[in-house]
Amino acid sequence: MKNVVQPRTLKELISLRKIPYNSRKIERISKAYALAKKAHEGQKRKSGEDYFVHCVETAATLIKMGLGSITISAALLHDVPEDTDITLEEVEKEFGKEVAFIVDGVTKLGHVRLKGSIEEYYLDNLRKMFMAMAADIRVILIKLADRLHNMRTLEALSENKRFRIANETMEVFVPIANRFGIGEIKGELEDLAFKHLEPEKYKYTVELETEAYKQRSQYIKSAIKELKKELKNSGIKLLDVHGRAKRYFRLYKKLEKYEMNIDKVYDLVAIRLVVPTVAACYETLGIVHKKYKPLIGRIKDYISLPKPNGYKSIHTTVFGPEGKILEVQIRTERMHDEAEFGIAAHWIYTQGRTWTDIVLRREPKGAEVPEKELEWVQQLKQWHTETGGETDEFWRSIRFDFFKNHIFAFTPSGDVIELPESATPIDFAYRIHSEVGDRAMGARANGKMVSLDYSIHNGDLIDIVTSKEKKLPSRDWLKFVKTTHAQTKIKNTLRKGGVTVVNQM
Ligand code: MN
Repeated sequence: MKNVVQPRTLKELISLRKIPYNSRKIERISKAYALAKKAHEGQKRKSGEDYFVHCVETAATLIKMGLGSITISAALLHDVPEDTDITLEEVEKEFGKEVAFIVDGVTKLGHVRLKGSIEEYYLDNLRKMFMAMAADIRVILIKLADRLHNMRTLEALSENKRFRIANETMEVFVPIANRFGIGEIKGELEDLAFKHLEPEKYKYTVELETEAYKQRSQYIKSAIKELKKELKNSGIKLLDVHGRAKRYFRLYKKLEKYEMNIDKVYDLVAIRLVVPTVAACYETLGIVHKKYKPLIGRIKDYISLPKPNGYKSIHTTVFGPEGKILEVQIRTERMHDEAEFGIAAHWIYTQGRTWTDIVLRREPKGAEVPEKELEWVQQLKQWHTETGGETDEFWRSIRFDFFKNHIFAFTPSGDVIELPESATPIDFAYRIHSEVGDRAMGARANGKMVSLDYSIHNGDLIDIVTSKEKKLPSRDWLKFVKTTHAQTKIKNTLRKGGVTVVNQM
Protein backbone atom coordinates (compact mmCIF):
# COMPACT_ATOMS: atom_id res chain seq x y z
CA MET A 1 0.00 0.00 0.00
CA LYS A 2 1.30 3.42 -0.84
CA ASN A 3 2.02 5.96 1.84
CA VAL A 4 -1.01 7.89 2.95
CA VAL A 5 -0.43 11.64 3.18
CA GLN A 6 -0.61 13.11 6.67
CA PRO A 7 -2.13 16.56 7.13
CA ARG A 8 0.35 19.41 7.59
CA THR A 9 0.56 20.55 11.18
CA LEU A 10 -0.73 24.00 12.06
CA LYS A 11 2.84 25.24 12.34
CA GLU A 12 3.79 23.90 8.91
CA LEU A 13 0.65 25.44 7.48
CA ILE A 14 1.08 28.99 8.72
CA SER A 15 4.80 29.04 7.97
CA LEU A 16 3.91 28.87 4.24
CA ARG A 17 3.14 32.57 4.32
CA LYS A 18 5.78 34.96 3.05
CA ILE A 19 4.66 37.54 5.61
CA PRO A 20 4.05 36.07 9.06
CA TYR A 21 0.62 36.43 10.67
CA ASN A 22 0.31 38.29 13.95
CA SER A 23 -0.69 36.37 17.05
CA ARG A 24 -4.38 37.31 16.92
CA LYS A 25 -4.63 35.93 13.38
CA ILE A 26 -2.74 32.81 14.29
CA GLU A 27 -5.19 32.25 17.08
CA ARG A 28 -8.13 32.48 14.68
CA ILE A 29 -6.55 30.08 12.18
CA SER A 30 -5.61 27.67 14.92
CA LYS A 31 -9.21 27.61 16.17
CA ALA A 32 -10.49 26.87 12.67
CA TYR A 33 -7.83 24.20 12.20
CA ALA A 34 -8.90 22.45 15.40
CA LEU A 35 -12.61 22.65 14.61
CA ALA A 36 -12.22 21.34 11.06
CA LYS A 37 -10.05 18.51 12.32
CA LYS A 38 -12.58 17.49 14.95
CA ALA A 39 -15.57 17.88 12.62
CA HIS A 40 -14.10 15.69 9.87
CA GLU A 41 -12.72 13.11 12.31
CA GLY A 42 -12.99 9.58 10.94
CA GLN A 43 -13.93 10.74 7.42
CA LYS A 44 -11.74 9.42 4.64
CA ARG A 45 -11.33 10.46 1.03
CA LYS A 46 -11.36 7.96 -1.84
CA SER A 47 -7.56 8.01 -1.82
CA GLY A 48 -7.57 6.64 1.74
CA GLU A 49 -6.26 9.79 3.39
CA ASP A 50 -8.09 11.70 6.12
CA TYR A 51 -10.66 14.13 4.79
CA PHE A 52 -8.97 16.81 6.87
CA VAL A 53 -5.95 16.72 4.53
CA HIS A 54 -8.18 18.27 1.87
CA CYS A 55 -9.15 21.18 4.16
CA VAL A 56 -5.55 21.85 5.09
CA GLU A 57 -4.32 21.73 1.49
CA THR A 58 -7.07 24.08 0.34
CA ALA A 59 -5.98 26.53 3.02
CA ALA A 60 -2.30 25.98 2.16
CA THR A 61 -2.76 27.21 -1.42
CA LEU A 62 -4.37 30.41 -0.13
CA ILE A 63 -1.77 30.97 2.57
CA LYS A 64 0.93 30.85 -0.10
CA MET A 65 -1.01 33.54 -1.93
CA GLY A 66 -0.79 35.71 1.17
CA LEU A 67 -4.48 35.80 2.08
CA GLY A 68 -5.68 36.87 5.50
CA SER A 69 -6.86 34.83 8.45
CA ILE A 70 -10.58 35.22 7.72
CA THR A 71 -10.20 33.64 4.28
CA ILE A 72 -7.92 30.93 5.66
CA SER A 73 -10.36 30.06 8.45
CA ALA A 74 -13.20 29.87 5.94
CA ALA A 75 -11.01 27.66 3.71
CA LEU A 76 -10.32 25.25 6.58
CA LEU A 77 -14.03 25.11 7.37
CA HIS A 78 -15.34 25.11 3.79
CA ASP A 79 -16.77 21.57 3.86
CA VAL A 80 -17.87 21.57 7.51
CA PRO A 81 -21.58 22.56 7.28
CA GLU A 82 -22.08 20.37 4.22
CA ASP A 83 -20.33 17.18 5.33
CA THR A 84 -20.29 17.14 9.14
CA ASP A 85 -22.59 17.49 12.13
CA ILE A 86 -21.46 21.01 12.80
CA THR A 87 -23.85 23.61 11.39
CA LEU A 88 -23.30 26.98 9.77
CA GLU A 89 -24.86 28.63 12.84
CA GLU A 90 -22.18 27.09 15.02
CA VAL A 91 -19.48 28.31 12.64
CA GLU A 92 -20.97 31.79 12.84
CA LYS A 93 -21.12 31.67 16.61
CA GLU A 94 -17.45 30.71 16.85
CA PHE A 95 -15.97 32.74 14.00
CA GLY A 96 -18.37 35.56 13.27
CA LYS A 97 -20.54 36.63 10.34
CA GLU A 98 -17.79 37.17 7.78
CA VAL A 99 -16.29 33.67 7.99
CA ALA A 100 -19.76 32.12 8.02
CA PHE A 101 -20.83 34.14 4.99
CA ILE A 102 -17.85 32.94 2.99
CA VAL A 103 -18.28 29.31 4.06
CA ASP A 104 -21.95 29.49 3.12
CA GLY A 105 -21.01 30.91 -0.29
CA VAL A 106 -18.63 28.02 -0.95
CA THR A 107 -21.26 25.48 0.15
CA LYS A 108 -23.92 26.96 -2.14
CA LEU A 109 -21.50 26.95 -5.03
CA GLY A 110 -21.11 23.22 -4.55
CA HIS A 111 -24.77 22.52 -5.23
CA VAL A 112 -24.71 22.13 -8.93
CA ARG A 113 -27.71 20.75 -10.72
CA LEU A 114 -26.77 17.52 -12.46
CA LYS A 115 -29.60 17.04 -14.90
CA GLY A 116 -29.66 18.37 -18.44
CA SER A 117 -26.95 18.68 -21.05
CA ILE A 118 -23.29 19.36 -20.41
CA GLU A 119 -23.81 22.82 -21.85
CA GLU A 120 -26.58 23.59 -19.35
CA TYR A 121 -24.45 22.25 -16.59
CA TYR A 122 -21.61 24.62 -17.40
CA LEU A 123 -23.95 27.54 -17.74
CA ASP A 124 -25.43 26.73 -14.38
CA ASN A 125 -22.01 26.52 -12.85
CA LEU A 126 -20.96 29.75 -14.42
CA ARG A 127 -24.07 31.48 -13.15
CA LYS A 128 -23.33 30.32 -9.62
CA MET A 129 -19.71 31.39 -9.89
CA PHE A 130 -20.77 34.79 -11.05
CA MET A 131 -23.25 35.30 -8.25
CA ALA A 132 -20.65 34.26 -5.70
CA MET A 133 -18.14 36.56 -7.30
CA ALA A 134 -20.42 39.52 -7.07
CA ALA A 135 -21.06 38.72 -3.42
CA ASP A 136 -17.49 38.07 -2.26
CA ILE A 137 -14.42 37.28 -4.33
CA ARG A 138 -12.98 35.26 -1.48
CA VAL A 139 -15.62 32.58 -2.13
CA ILE A 140 -14.20 32.06 -5.60
CA LEU A 141 -10.61 32.02 -4.37
CA ILE A 142 -11.49 29.22 -1.92
CA LYS A 143 -13.37 27.37 -4.64
CA LEU A 144 -10.32 27.57 -6.90
CA ALA A 145 -8.00 26.28 -4.16
CA ASP A 146 -10.53 23.52 -3.37
CA ARG A 147 -10.65 22.51 -7.03
CA LEU A 148 -6.87 22.55 -7.25
CA HIS A 149 -6.55 19.99 -4.47
CA ASN A 150 -9.32 17.86 -5.94
CA MET A 151 -7.51 17.90 -9.27
CA ARG A 152 -4.22 16.96 -7.63
CA THR A 153 -5.91 13.91 -6.10
CA LEU A 154 -8.13 12.98 -9.02
CA GLU A 155 -6.43 9.61 -9.59
CA ALA A 156 -8.50 7.96 -6.87
CA LEU A 157 -11.79 8.46 -8.75
CA SER A 158 -13.42 6.39 -11.48
CA GLU A 159 -12.57 7.21 -15.09
CA ASN A 160 -15.97 8.67 -15.73
CA LYS A 161 -15.81 11.05 -12.82
CA ARG A 162 -12.24 12.01 -13.60
CA PHE A 163 -13.20 12.97 -17.09
CA ARG A 164 -16.21 14.99 -16.03
CA ILE A 165 -14.30 16.89 -13.35
CA ALA A 166 -11.31 17.53 -15.60
CA ASN A 167 -13.60 18.80 -18.34
CA GLU A 168 -15.41 21.13 -15.99
CA THR A 169 -12.07 22.37 -14.70
CA MET A 170 -11.00 23.28 -18.22
CA GLU A 171 -14.33 24.91 -19.12
CA VAL A 172 -15.14 26.82 -15.96
CA PHE A 173 -12.28 27.01 -13.45
CA VAL A 174 -9.33 27.65 -15.75
CA PRO A 175 -10.96 30.68 -17.40
CA ILE A 176 -11.93 32.11 -14.02
CA ALA A 177 -8.43 31.69 -12.59
CA ASN A 178 -7.13 33.31 -15.76
CA ARG A 179 -9.55 36.21 -15.50
CA PHE A 180 -8.33 36.81 -11.97
CA GLY A 181 -4.75 36.74 -13.20
CA ILE A 182 -3.77 33.90 -10.87
CA GLY A 183 -1.17 32.37 -13.19
CA GLU A 184 0.00 29.82 -10.64
CA ILE A 185 -3.40 28.19 -10.15
CA LYS A 186 -4.50 28.61 -13.73
CA GLY A 187 -1.38 26.90 -15.06
CA GLU A 188 -1.53 23.96 -12.69
CA LEU A 189 -5.28 23.41 -13.15
CA GLU A 190 -4.84 23.47 -16.89
CA ASP A 191 -2.01 20.94 -16.84
CA LEU A 192 -3.88 18.60 -14.48
CA ALA A 193 -7.01 18.77 -16.62
CA PHE A 194 -4.92 18.16 -19.74
CA LYS A 195 -3.41 15.08 -18.11
CA HIS A 196 -6.81 13.51 -17.52
CA LEU A 197 -8.53 14.64 -20.70
CA GLU A 198 -5.73 13.76 -23.11
CA PRO A 199 -3.45 11.28 -21.33
CA GLU A 200 -1.54 10.30 -24.49
CA LYS A 201 -0.86 13.83 -25.61
CA TYR A 202 0.06 14.79 -22.08
CA LYS A 203 2.63 12.01 -21.80
CA TYR A 204 4.08 12.90 -25.17
CA THR A 205 4.42 16.57 -24.22
CA VAL A 206 6.04 15.83 -20.86
CA GLU A 207 8.64 13.57 -22.45
CA LEU A 208 9.35 16.02 -25.23
CA GLU A 209 9.78 18.93 -22.87
CA THR A 210 11.93 17.01 -20.39
CA GLU A 211 14.32 16.03 -23.16
CA ALA A 212 14.38 19.48 -24.75
CA TYR A 213 14.89 21.14 -21.38
CA LYS A 214 17.85 18.89 -20.64
CA GLN A 215 19.47 19.93 -23.91
CA ARG A 216 18.90 23.60 -23.20
CA SER A 217 19.83 23.67 -19.53
CA GLN A 218 23.51 24.31 -20.25
CA TYR A 219 23.06 27.40 -22.35
CA ILE A 220 20.38 28.71 -19.97
CA LYS A 221 22.98 28.51 -17.25
CA SER A 222 25.57 30.36 -19.30
CA ALA A 223 23.03 33.01 -20.33
CA ILE A 224 22.10 33.60 -16.68
CA LYS A 225 25.78 33.92 -15.80
CA GLU A 226 26.47 36.39 -18.61
CA LEU A 227 23.39 38.50 -17.90
CA LYS A 228 24.16 38.66 -14.18
CA LYS A 229 27.58 40.03 -15.01
CA GLU A 230 26.24 42.63 -17.46
CA LEU A 231 23.64 43.88 -15.00
CA LYS A 232 26.15 44.06 -12.20
CA ASN A 233 28.46 46.16 -14.37
CA SER A 234 25.59 48.53 -15.10
CA GLY A 235 24.71 48.85 -11.45
CA ILE A 236 21.26 47.30 -11.73
CA LYS A 237 20.23 45.35 -8.70
CA LEU A 238 18.98 41.92 -9.67
CA LEU A 239 16.44 40.73 -7.11
CA ASP A 240 15.94 37.33 -8.69
CA VAL A 241 16.86 35.45 -11.80
CA HIS A 242 15.58 32.04 -12.79
CA GLY A 243 14.80 29.86 -15.76
CA ARG A 244 11.19 28.89 -16.26
CA ALA A 245 9.93 25.96 -18.28
CA LYS A 246 6.74 26.31 -20.26
CA ARG A 247 3.60 24.69 -18.86
CA TYR A 248 2.71 21.44 -20.64
CA PHE A 249 -0.70 22.37 -21.94
CA ARG A 250 0.51 25.73 -23.23
CA LEU A 251 3.45 23.99 -24.90
CA TYR A 252 1.15 21.45 -26.53
CA LYS A 253 -1.07 24.22 -27.87
CA LYS A 254 1.94 25.94 -29.35
CA LEU A 255 3.30 22.73 -30.85
CA GLU A 256 -0.02 22.20 -32.59
CA LYS A 257 0.39 25.61 -34.16
CA TYR A 258 3.87 24.73 -35.47
CA GLU A 259 3.26 21.21 -36.84
CA MET A 260 4.70 19.73 -33.62
CA ASN A 261 8.13 21.19 -34.33
CA ILE A 262 9.64 22.01 -30.95
CA ASP A 263 12.48 24.06 -32.47
CA LYS A 264 9.91 26.65 -33.46
CA VAL A 265 8.80 27.16 -29.86
CA TYR A 266 11.07 30.02 -28.84
CA ASP A 267 9.75 30.37 -25.31
CA LEU A 268 10.08 26.73 -24.25
CA VAL A 269 12.46 27.99 -21.64
CA ALA A 270 12.69 31.60 -20.64
CA ILE A 271 14.91 33.53 -18.29
CA ARG A 272 13.15 35.76 -15.83
CA LEU A 273 14.92 38.82 -14.51
CA VAL A 274 13.34 40.51 -11.50
CA VAL A 275 14.54 44.07 -10.90
CA PRO A 276 13.48 46.79 -8.43
CA THR A 277 11.66 49.37 -10.56
CA VAL A 278 9.85 49.92 -13.84
CA ALA A 279 12.71 52.18 -14.98
CA ALA A 280 15.14 49.36 -14.24
CA CYS A 281 13.01 47.03 -16.40
CA TYR A 282 13.53 49.22 -19.47
CA GLU A 283 17.18 49.75 -18.66
CA THR A 284 17.59 46.00 -18.35
CA LEU A 285 15.91 45.51 -21.72
CA GLY A 286 18.55 47.76 -23.25
CA ILE A 287 21.35 45.82 -21.59
CA VAL A 288 19.93 42.48 -22.74
CA HIS A 289 19.69 43.77 -26.31
CA LYS A 290 23.21 45.13 -26.21
CA LYS A 291 24.50 41.73 -25.16
CA TYR A 292 22.24 39.57 -27.35
CA LYS A 293 20.69 40.64 -30.64
CA PRO A 294 16.89 40.68 -30.45
CA LEU A 295 14.65 38.95 -32.98
CA ILE A 296 12.70 41.57 -34.85
CA GLY A 297 9.03 41.85 -33.94
CA ARG A 298 9.34 39.75 -30.81
CA ILE A 299 9.52 42.48 -28.18
CA LYS A 300 6.33 42.55 -26.16
CA ASP A 301 5.92 45.41 -23.73
CA TYR A 302 3.15 44.32 -21.38
CA ILE A 303 4.21 47.04 -18.96
CA SER A 304 2.90 49.86 -21.15
CA LEU A 305 0.10 47.66 -22.45
CA PRO A 306 -0.77 45.03 -19.84
CA LYS A 307 -2.74 41.92 -20.75
CA PRO A 308 -6.46 42.19 -19.93
CA ASN A 309 -6.04 40.11 -16.79
CA GLY A 310 -3.45 42.60 -15.53
CA TYR A 311 -0.32 40.69 -16.53
CA LYS A 312 2.72 42.96 -16.73
CA SER A 313 6.25 42.16 -17.92
CA ILE A 314 8.54 42.82 -20.85
CA HIS A 315 9.18 39.82 -23.08
CA THR A 316 11.88 39.74 -25.70
CA THR A 317 13.33 36.96 -27.81
CA VAL A 318 17.07 37.14 -28.44
CA PHE A 319 19.95 35.18 -29.95
CA GLY A 320 21.54 34.03 -26.71
CA PRO A 321 24.81 32.19 -26.09
CA GLU A 322 25.97 30.09 -29.07
CA GLY A 323 23.49 32.09 -31.14
CA LYS A 324 20.60 29.99 -29.83
CA ILE A 325 17.18 31.54 -29.47
CA LEU A 326 16.08 32.43 -25.99
CA GLU A 327 13.20 34.33 -24.41
CA VAL A 328 13.94 36.84 -21.67
CA GLN A 329 11.20 38.20 -19.38
CA ILE A 330 11.81 41.32 -17.33
CA ARG A 331 9.60 42.46 -14.44
CA THR A 332 9.54 44.00 -10.99
CA GLU A 333 8.92 41.98 -7.84
CA ARG A 334 5.41 43.33 -7.63
CA MET A 335 4.65 42.34 -11.22
CA HIS A 336 5.98 38.90 -10.43
CA ASP A 337 3.74 38.43 -7.40
CA GLU A 338 0.77 39.73 -9.33
CA ALA A 339 1.43 37.33 -12.19
CA GLU A 340 1.42 34.39 -9.80
CA PHE A 341 -1.26 35.41 -7.36
CA GLY A 342 -3.34 37.87 -9.37
CA ILE A 343 -6.13 39.53 -7.56
CA ALA A 344 -4.89 38.38 -4.18
CA ALA A 345 -1.62 40.25 -4.66
CA HIS A 346 -3.58 43.35 -5.62
CA TRP A 347 -5.23 43.38 -2.23
CA ILE A 348 -1.94 43.70 -0.54
CA TYR A 349 -0.25 46.07 -2.95
CA THR A 350 -3.10 48.46 -3.44
CA GLN A 351 -3.10 49.22 0.22
CA GLY A 352 0.03 51.11 -0.60
CA ARG A 353 2.47 48.56 0.69
CA THR A 354 5.08 46.39 -0.90
CA TRP A 355 5.93 42.96 0.39
CA THR A 356 8.87 44.45 2.23
CA ASP A 357 6.66 47.04 3.91
CA ILE A 358 4.39 44.32 5.05
CA VAL A 359 7.18 42.19 6.43
CA LEU A 360 8.28 45.15 8.50
CA ARG A 361 4.82 46.13 9.62
CA ARG A 362 1.63 44.20 9.96
CA GLU A 363 -0.64 42.47 7.49
CA PRO A 364 -3.20 44.79 5.97
CA LYS A 365 -6.56 45.12 7.63
CA GLY A 366 -9.56 43.61 5.92
CA ALA A 367 -9.53 42.35 2.39
CA GLU A 368 -11.32 44.98 0.39
CA VAL A 369 -10.87 44.49 -3.31
CA PRO A 370 -10.11 47.83 -4.94
CA GLU A 371 -13.01 48.97 -7.07
CA LYS A 372 -10.94 49.23 -10.18
CA GLU A 373 -9.86 45.60 -10.18
CA LEU A 374 -13.44 44.57 -10.20
CA GLU A 375 -14.65 46.80 -12.96
CA TRP A 376 -15.50 43.80 -15.05
CA VAL A 377 -17.52 42.29 -12.25
CA GLN A 378 -19.43 45.55 -11.95
CA GLN A 379 -19.95 45.53 -15.67
CA LEU A 380 -21.37 42.02 -15.59
CA LYS A 381 -23.70 43.02 -12.79
CA GLN A 382 -24.94 45.96 -14.79
CA TRP A 383 -25.62 43.89 -17.92
CA HIS A 384 -27.34 41.37 -15.78
CA THR A 385 -29.76 43.99 -14.50
CA GLU A 386 -30.26 45.57 -17.88
CA THR A 387 -31.13 42.38 -19.70
CA GLY A 388 -33.15 40.80 -16.96
CA GLY A 389 -30.46 38.20 -17.17
CA GLU A 390 -32.20 35.01 -16.16
CA THR A 391 -32.15 33.38 -19.55
CA ASP A 392 -29.68 30.82 -20.81
CA GLU A 393 -29.05 33.08 -23.80
CA PHE A 394 -27.77 35.71 -21.47
CA TRP A 395 -25.39 33.31 -19.81
CA ARG A 396 -24.30 31.81 -23.08
CA SER A 397 -23.34 35.22 -24.40
CA ILE A 398 -21.69 36.20 -21.14
CA ARG A 399 -19.61 33.11 -21.46
CA PHE A 400 -18.45 34.52 -24.75
CA ASP A 401 -17.83 38.09 -23.60
CA PHE A 402 -16.31 37.08 -20.35
CA PHE A 403 -13.91 34.38 -21.38
CA LYS A 404 -12.98 35.38 -24.87
CA ASN A 405 -9.51 36.85 -25.24
CA HIS A 406 -9.61 40.53 -24.72
CA ILE A 407 -7.96 43.45 -26.43
CA PHE A 408 -7.39 47.06 -25.47
CA ALA A 409 -8.26 50.04 -27.63
CA PHE A 410 -7.67 53.70 -26.92
CA THR A 411 -9.98 56.70 -27.10
CA PRO A 412 -8.52 59.88 -28.63
CA SER A 413 -8.04 61.21 -25.10
CA GLY A 414 -6.00 58.15 -24.15
CA ASP A 415 -8.57 56.23 -22.10
CA VAL A 416 -8.29 52.48 -22.39
CA ILE A 417 -11.35 50.48 -23.41
CA GLU A 418 -11.33 46.73 -22.92
CA LEU A 419 -13.14 44.65 -25.53
CA PRO A 420 -13.39 41.03 -26.61
CA GLU A 421 -11.27 39.98 -29.57
CA SER A 422 -12.66 41.01 -32.98
CA ALA A 423 -14.95 43.64 -31.44
CA THR A 424 -16.01 46.45 -33.78
CA PRO A 425 -16.09 50.28 -33.56
CA ILE A 426 -19.79 50.00 -32.66
CA ASP A 427 -18.93 47.83 -29.64
CA PHE A 428 -16.32 50.41 -28.76
CA ALA A 429 -18.79 53.30 -29.15
CA TYR A 430 -21.39 51.71 -26.86
CA ARG A 431 -18.72 51.00 -24.29
CA ILE A 432 -17.97 54.74 -24.13
CA HIS A 433 -21.58 55.90 -23.92
CA SER A 434 -24.96 54.83 -25.34
CA GLU A 435 -25.30 58.16 -27.10
CA VAL A 436 -21.97 57.79 -28.84
CA GLY A 437 -23.19 54.41 -30.02
CA ASP A 438 -26.62 55.56 -31.15
CA ARG A 439 -25.19 58.51 -33.08
CA ALA A 440 -22.20 56.78 -34.64
CA MET A 441 -21.75 57.53 -38.35
CA GLY A 442 -18.24 56.35 -39.01
CA ALA A 443 -14.97 55.45 -37.36
CA ARG A 444 -11.25 56.01 -37.67
CA ALA A 445 -8.65 53.51 -36.52
CA ASN A 446 -5.23 55.10 -36.00
CA GLY A 447 -6.30 58.04 -38.13
CA LYS A 448 -7.63 56.03 -41.10
CA MET A 449 -11.32 55.69 -41.91
CA VAL A 450 -12.56 52.14 -41.32
CA SER A 451 -15.94 50.50 -41.73
CA LEU A 452 -18.19 50.12 -38.69
CA ASP A 453 -17.75 46.35 -38.75
CA TYR A 454 -13.94 46.67 -38.73
CA SER A 455 -12.19 44.21 -36.39
CA ILE A 456 -10.36 46.29 -33.79
CA HIS A 457 -6.76 45.31 -33.09
CA ASN A 458 -5.05 45.46 -29.75
CA GLY A 459 -3.65 48.94 -29.21
CA ASP A 460 -5.75 50.66 -31.92
CA LEU A 461 -6.72 54.26 -31.32
CA ILE A 462 -10.39 54.47 -32.24
CA ASP A 463 -12.16 57.71 -33.01
CA ILE A 464 -15.94 57.55 -33.45
CA VAL A 465 -17.54 60.05 -35.81
CA THR A 466 -21.01 61.02 -34.56
CA SER A 467 -23.82 63.14 -35.89
CA LYS A 468 -26.18 65.24 -33.79
CA GLU A 469 -29.06 64.69 -36.20
CA LYS A 470 -28.82 60.94 -35.96
CA LYS A 471 -30.82 59.54 -33.05
CA LEU A 472 -31.30 55.86 -33.82
CA PRO A 473 -28.79 53.06 -34.32
CA SER A 474 -28.98 50.94 -37.46
CA ARG A 475 -30.69 47.60 -37.19
CA ASP A 476 -27.97 46.07 -39.37
CA TRP A 477 -25.44 46.63 -36.63
CA LEU A 478 -26.98 43.72 -34.76
CA LYS A 479 -25.54 41.45 -37.43
CA PHE A 480 -21.93 42.26 -36.64
CA VAL A 481 -21.54 43.62 -33.11
CA LYS A 482 -19.57 41.30 -30.86
CA THR A 483 -20.57 42.29 -27.34
CA THR A 484 -23.76 41.56 -25.46
CA HIS A 485 -23.55 45.09 -24.16
CA ALA A 486 -23.81 46.74 -27.59
CA GLN A 487 -26.50 44.30 -28.68
CA THR A 488 -28.66 45.08 -25.66
CA LYS A 489 -28.22 48.83 -26.04
CA ILE A 490 -29.06 48.81 -29.75
CA LYS A 491 -32.21 46.76 -29.18
CA ASN A 492 -33.33 48.97 -26.32
CA THR A 493 -32.92 52.19 -28.28
CA LEU A 494 -34.64 50.73 -31.34
CA ARG A 495 -37.58 49.55 -29.26
CA LYS A 496 -37.88 52.92 -27.61
CA GLY A 497 -37.80 54.49 -31.07
CA GLY A 498 -40.67 52.24 -32.14
CA VAL A 499 -38.65 49.92 -34.38
CA THR A 500 -39.56 46.24 -34.21
CA VAL A 501 -36.63 44.05 -33.34
CA VAL A 502 -36.69 40.33 -33.94
CA ASN A 503 -34.77 38.50 -31.30
CA GLN A 504 -31.98 36.79 -33.14
CA MET A 505 -29.73 35.81 -30.26
MN1 MN B 1 -13.81 20.79 -0.67
